[in-house]
Amino acid sequence: MSYTSNLDEFKAWITQRYPDQKEYLQATFDIANDVIPVCNANEKYKQWEVFKRLCEPERIIQFSVAWLNDNHEVEINKGWRVQHCGLIGPFKGGLRFHPTVNESILKFLAFEQSFKNALTGLPIGGAKGGSDFNPKGRSDYEVMRFCQAFMQELQRHIGPYTDVPAGDINVGSREIGYLYGEYRKINNRFGGAITGKDIEFGGSYVRTEATGFGLIYFLDDVLKQANTDISGKRIAISGAGNVALHAALKAIQFGAKVITLSNSRGTLFYEKGFTEEDLHWVINHKGKPDNILLSLNERINGVWEADTKPWSAAVDVALPCATQNELIGEDARSLVKNGCKFVLEGANMPCNEAAQKAFKEAKITFVPGKASNAGGVALSGLEMSQNATFHKATYESMDASLKEIMENIHLQCVQEGNEGDFINYTKGANIAAFRRLADAMVSQGI
Ligand code: NDP
Repeated sequence: MSYTSNLDEFKAWITQRYPDQKEYLQATFDIANDVIPVCNANEKYKQWEVFKRLCEPERIIQFSVAWLNDNHEVEINKGWRVQHCGLIGPFKGGLRFHPTVNESILKFLAFEQSFKNALTGLPIGGAKGGSDFNPKGRSDYEVMRFCQAFMQELQRHIGPYTDVPAGDINVGSREIGYLYGEYRKINNRFGGAITGKDIEFGGSYVRTEATGFGLIYFLDDVLKQANTDISGKRIAISGAGNVALHAALKAIQFGAKVITLSNSRGTLFYEKGFTEEDLHWVINHKGKPDNILLSLNERINGVWEADTKPWSAAVDVALPCATQNELIGEDARSLVKNGCKFVLEGANMPCNEAAQKAFKEAKITFVPGKASNAGGVALSGLEMSQNATFHKATYESMDASLKEIMENIHLQCVQEGNEGDFINYTKGANIAAFRRLADAMVSQGI
């Protein structure tokens, strides 16, 4: 294998290996651009081909999940676990249940997760998993039977020192409960093999809120770095799930005005700005009505626009918190035109390549999810250490730890991404994470 010293050579190498995995190619290209120069400047990284090796998951497990629906018919779904990089700790990353799930998407998520987890400074490797099962419209019993069938296979590949899954899209506390229950019964072991558990059986305070809260703590650091602050800022948020709602709640607590929330059916615009009470109402009723944002709108009388994204709003800050590639080039240009100055990813890779290019050209501060949404996995890491010692830390101490971890990630981005008059957060996050993984790889040998 010959060493690839520039982006074009790398792109040719990885494209020829995975020609059909467009999400995975996109994720590796994004990081290659920043880390190849770092490799070129380090003899050990070159000698041991660290970047190419980091682009190959250590293991991919694929399995079938057969289960009985409420009509006693057999349904068959596909299940996966991508154990991407275990260099600095047990594999760690969420499970996603969604019809769009495939190997390319899980590989991209696991790859990004490895870099994100490295940034937290905690001993956690990177993984991702899930299924093409769609829990929407399924009864509670069906979701339970699916989770049990999924875990019957997954359980042989995970454990507190091996691989510790958590939730992701459509895998919330209900699904984690069913998954963990099945793991515990089969293994006769109570322990930290899954995070995001209920507080009564090994969960951690602040885990539920951590990704959204962490995003706003990071935003606070970014704004301070730019000599301004959150108070009074107009914010557009996409999504109405775990990340979006907790980000909105914390932003409002910091004095910002959140004027949009959205879902796959449209966007709710609310010029007056949502209140904390509105957010608590949605969090408490999530999943009950068919479209929670329409129900919220009946209470507040905002403007619901079907099949629309939030990015036409005039805002200071945009926080895409729904899903990958939801914010494309034309959305980015619309945000720039309307005066947006800061974009922080709450979701994983919500801004596509064209959008990131538009932000860069306009010198808009852009923070990639691997830095700004790392709060969730950081709290999962802290849940693992609490489980290992049968200890439950207080809400206040977990919230303080989350803030400290986000501050530390911010600092690493500034140190590695400082370009004089501009902080290149993408470059900073990619290089800081890469150095930690590359050094571990060199130390551990081939
Ligand atoms: P949830 O399932 O709780 O919520 C997802 C939200 O996004 C829902 O409101 C959903 O709407 C909306 N959505 C999904 N697809 C689209 C679309 N194509 N267009 C517009 N809206 C859409 O997920 P989370 O909040 O947990 O996760 C959101 C993102 O954040 C994901 O990318 C996830 O990987 C990432 N993330 C999550 C972490 C966590 O701790 N939960 C940690 C780090 C990253 P609808 O209900 O209509 O489908």
